Amino acid sequence: MSPQPTSVADEAADPTTEKAVTQDPQLREGAFGNATGLSCRECGAVQPLGPSYACPECFGPLEVAYSFPALTRDEIEAGPNNIWRYKALLPVPADIESSPNTEPGFTRLLRAENLGRELGIDTLWVKDDSTNPTNSFKDRVVACALSAARELGASVFACPSTGNLANAVAAAGARAGMRTVVLIPSNLEHPKQVNSAVFTDSLIAVDGNYDDVNKLAQEIAAEEEGWAFVNVNVRPFYAEGSKTLGYEIAEQLGWRLPDQIVIPVASGSQLTKVDKAFRELIELGLVEDKPYTVFGAQAEGCSPVSTAYKAGVDAIRPVKPDTIAKSLAIGNPADGIYVLDVAKRTGGAVEDVTDDEVRAAIVKLARTEGIFTETAGGTTMAVLEKLVAAGLLDPTKETVAINTGHGLKTLDAVSDQVGPRATIKASYDAFAEAGLV
Ligand SMILES: *Cc1c(COP(=O)(O)O)cnc(C)c1O
Ligand SMILES: [Zn+2]
Repeated sequence: MSPQPTSVADEAADPTTEKAVTQDPQLREGAFGNATGLSCRECGAVQPLGPSYACPECFGPLEVAYSFPALTRDEIEAGPNNIWRYKALLPVPADIESSPNTEPGFTRLLRAENLGRELGIDTLWVKDDSTNPTNSFKDRVVACALSAARELGASVFACPSTGNLANAVAAAGARAGMRTVVLIPSNLEHPKQVNSAVFTDSLIAVDGNYDDVNKLAQEIAAEEEGWAFVNVNVRPFYAEGSKTLGYEIAEQLGWRLPDQIVIPVASGSQLTKVDKAFRELIELGLVEDKPYTVFGAQAEGCSPVSTAYKAGVDAIRPVKPDTIAKSLAIGNPADGIYVLDVAKRTGGAVEDVTDDEVRAAIVKLARTEGIFTETAGGTTMAVLEKLVAAGLLDPTKETVAINTGHGLKTLDAVSDQVGPRATIKASYDAFAEAGLV
């Protein structure tokens, strides 16, 4: 079969097709806050801040570099209860709060005593990102991408997506009053389609799979000027939004890092950025330097990163996804190799679980903690359980697991598992017969 790597939505695009969002945008002073440039993760070459995402020297992915000012916990705590309290650490202007956006973040960090007891973990926390404005962690990254799109003078805010990203882009674009176009595969789950279409009249369902949708997005980005595709041509800015998960967890623990953290992996961006956030907090003296361990979670039906981890190889072999965890179904993850680096450096691991384990974990989290997670969160919780059983995660150490999305978006995953215990006539006798009294 074709050796072509699967090209998917969260993938860095082919740099040969790169075209500026706008040619020579007139950047205003401080458009990207304390960011100083875009540095290549592979060769370190630095590009000026702008609509670039691939290194012109080696095609490596670009990452935002900063010169941070001295920053105190008090200054951060005085900020708003959303991701902009960390605006000094993000590539956004100082007046970011004055531009309409969905104000994501500062979601709950819940002590999960019941689940912890069931799994034998002494101190377990769930970072619950299902309560973001469009019910997934994607609102964080999209808020940062929206700022970049605005500063770069883009006229269209767009993305290829499997669902959560489309929801977040459509909602943020609506609030910003920007023209918004979101591209999805036409066979996407119905709730995710409605959750996008309600915010935009330009939801485009593409006949084909996710790979086809992404290729189309790259073609549009190459042909049209003024289109900001959040996960393609403004990806370096988009990706920085995931750092806020790490900042929040540390702040909510009382300015401390957890000992262990379990994070789902699709493109791998979120995991690598939470690690980046922890290292920045240490560097800035906002938390005490201490070792922490990062674990990655994938679904068996799309586990290119855990497969590479277990095989002990440094290269990711693309796969064709086949799993109910559709929001994690990226067969050729752009940041997969960096996930391997983080797991190895911190003494962690990358593990995968079956779809049945994902379904069981969704129900277990719901029944122990009252949190309804989507399949991505089910993957994370099932991997957490597996890591404890395998002795890879230390149950005596403080552990955080991230719930990245809401279960109402993937109802079908558990609709066979749960339902009415009985359907009865409206009489006490019938109720008694159901065995509940
Ligand atoms: C996109 C997504 C992820 C993973 O994000 P990456 O940064 O691409 O690894 C995890 N959970 C949910 C619910 C998502 O939508
Ligand atoms: Zn380079």
